[in-house]
Amino acid sequence: AEIISEKLHIPTISTGNILREAIKNGTETGLKAKSFMDAGKLVPDDVIIGIVSERVAQPDCANGFILDGVPRTLPQAEALEAAGIHFDRVVSIEIEDAVIEARMTDRRVCGSFHLTAHPPKVEGVCDVCGKELIVRKDDAPETVKNRLKVFHAETEPLKDFYEKLGVLKLVEGNQPIEAATRDI
Ligand code: AMP
Repeated sequence: AEIISEKLHIPTISTGNILREAIKNGTETGLKAKSFMDAGKLVPDDVIIGIVSERVAQPDCANGFILDGVPRTLPQAEALEAAGIHFDRVVSIEIEDAVIEARMTDRRVCGSFHLTAHPPKVEGVCDVCGKELIVRKDDAPETVKNRLKVFHAETEPLKDFYEKLGVLKLVEGNQPIEAATRDI
């Protein structure tokens, strides 16, 4: 999403990033979201729908935007359609659970890095801002398992929803970043 966002000069809106920022800043939304996120559960739909509707109404979204990690439930998808927020394309990045579980172990965040797929120039340090890279609490193996369970139950059915709207594209996710970017 970050690479395509730069190419197309449109913003990426990641609800996960917005929520993590809200937690860091101790906002009301952050307080509501924290326990769900730490447990690998979904944050309630009304919180998410509010965040997205507000964000896509900003002027920098006038020429388009990429949503990352949202919608994740049928009510979220329906609410976005009902609010007139329609998508040209919906990309489902297809990867086996076992591969995801292995990948999450090596993920480091601040800017976005991965120890094998996209390592930082200096170990443990963000190339972008120089701050320490961290392991996301919800990338702990047990929490990842729970997130995958939630994904299959709540989010995967959205593929049918967007297939019916004629906008779904499947992309092979078990390949290097450059190849996945090209396919997307
Ligand atoms: P992500 O960074 O996309 O993996 O999101 C991290 C966590 O934030 C998820 O495991 C959820 O707890 C929460 N979250 C992010 N986006 C959504 C969403 N669209 N619906 C519900 N919860 C979300």
